Amino acid sequence: MPPLFGPFRSPKDEKVHLGPMQKIGPPRRRFADHETVDYCIVGIGSAGGVLIQRLARAGFKVVGLEAGPFWDSERDWVSDERGSHELYWNDLRIIGGKDPLALGANNSGKGVGGGSVHWAAFTPRFHPSDFRVYTQDGVGADWPMSYWDLKPYYELLEREMPVAGPAWFPWGDPHGHPYGPHPLGGIGDVLVRGCTRLGIRTVAGGPVAILSASHGNRPHCIYRGFCLQGCKVGAKASTLITHVPDALAHGADVRAHSMASRITLRADGRVNGVEYIDREGRQQFVRARAVIVAGYAIETPRLLFNSACPGHWQGLANSSGTLGRYLMAQAGNVVAGWFPELIRMYKSPPAHALSEDFYETDPGADLREASPFKRFHLSRFHSPGI
Ligand SMILES: Cc1cc2nc3c(=O)[nH]c(=O)nc-3n(C[C@H](O)[C@H](O)[C@H](O)COP(=O)(O)OP(=O)(O)OC[C@H]3O[C@@H](n4cnc5c(N)ncnc54)[C@H](O)[C@@H]3O)c2cc1C
Ligand code: SF4
Repeated sequence: MPPLFGPFRSPKDEKVHLGPMQKIGPPRRRFADHETVDYCIVGIGSAGGVLIQRLARAGFKVVGLEAGPFWDSERDWVSDERGSHELYWNDLRIIGGKDPLALGANNSGKGVGGGSVHWAAFTPRFHPSDFRVYTQDGVGADWPMSYWDLKPYYELLEREMPVAGPAWFPWGDPHGHPYGPHPLGGIGDVLVRGCTRLGIRTVAGGPVAILSASHGNRPHCIYRGFCLQGCKVGAKASTLITHVPDALAHGADVRAHSMASRITLRADGRVNGVEYIDREGRQQFVRARAVIVAGYAIETPRLLFNSACPGHWQGLANSSGTLGRYLMAQAGNVVAGWFPELIRMYKSPPAHALSEDFYETDPGADLREASPFKRFHLSRFHSPGI
């Protein structure tokens, strides 16, 4: 039995790379209720999906609880905006405080794969300077690690998803990509032509975790532009089709429609399991030596607050009182325009041409093309000449 705690091997001698053949199969293993597993992971999304694969490969007994369904991309998904709403966490979410804010439904995913099912698969790396923003720009906080600590993990995941992009990405820590770039879509072409005229450097064709050539049993992208609706084709990487199948093949127990409601503690203060509500509304319990909460920015603190108990009245993992605070939203500035020629903005993956010429010391000033805008967005930009 491998040790439960302690350092994992560095990715340099990592022997748990994914093979090329990833197949969606039904969940197989089911640990008995009386068994105590090594790990229970709450949320099998982007982070939980990778983690469960690593732990199952390392030989641990691991159960993953996922509130949403176990998607079958062929059976469940449609290339249609309305028809894909079930991919989102649709429950009402309001952030409290003096100025309460309702979050949009598509801010996170629900179901095995989580947000990686409907993300845009845009995969740029942070710049080394992003880790020292307080030192360099006097705002925010410096990270406790550097870009160079993280770099081997970027490289590892870029190979595993895998990422397609330009052979040379010139900004930050310049690097290439495992798969070649995608052809330029209509809207990327507009951006590249405009920037080139203004002397702004651009790259095109990525970086995106979307296949520009086939990979095992996954086909390459067919450029229909429904990436945010769940890629029915399987060209876009999501943990549902990359890491989770490998986790299942290595003995992980993934339980869909299982909403974790409380983490429980033993008398000595150590965790001993997770209560959850199953598809039929019954309360169930997973016995576990360790619990990992990977439910994203809203549900993770919610579960830890809901797990308040004697000795932890402010919620679990909240001795600092910062649980649920400092939520940082991702701001996006959108510029849309009308052009005399036909652009076909709905074609191609959403992010595939960009410039980071304005990235440094001016936080948030990177420029990237994003398409396809759907009718919802277009209705807000109806005035010609914007
Ligand atoms: C529309 C959209 C586009 C995006 N595009 C990009 C992009 O191009 N590039 C990029 O880098 N990022 C992108 N992101 C962000 C990225 O998808 C998220 O940062 C990432 O998925 C977060 O990973 P996570 O594992 O923390 O959470 P998630 O992937 O959201 O997974 C959390 C999972 O936990 C489950 N869960 C929550 N609570 C419970 C509970 N109590 N019990 C059981 N299960 C629970 C949820 O159902 C979900 O499946 C995008 C996000 C959105 C919404
Ligand atoms: S454009 Fe490519 S990645 Fe996006 S949904 Fe279509 S096939 Fe999938």
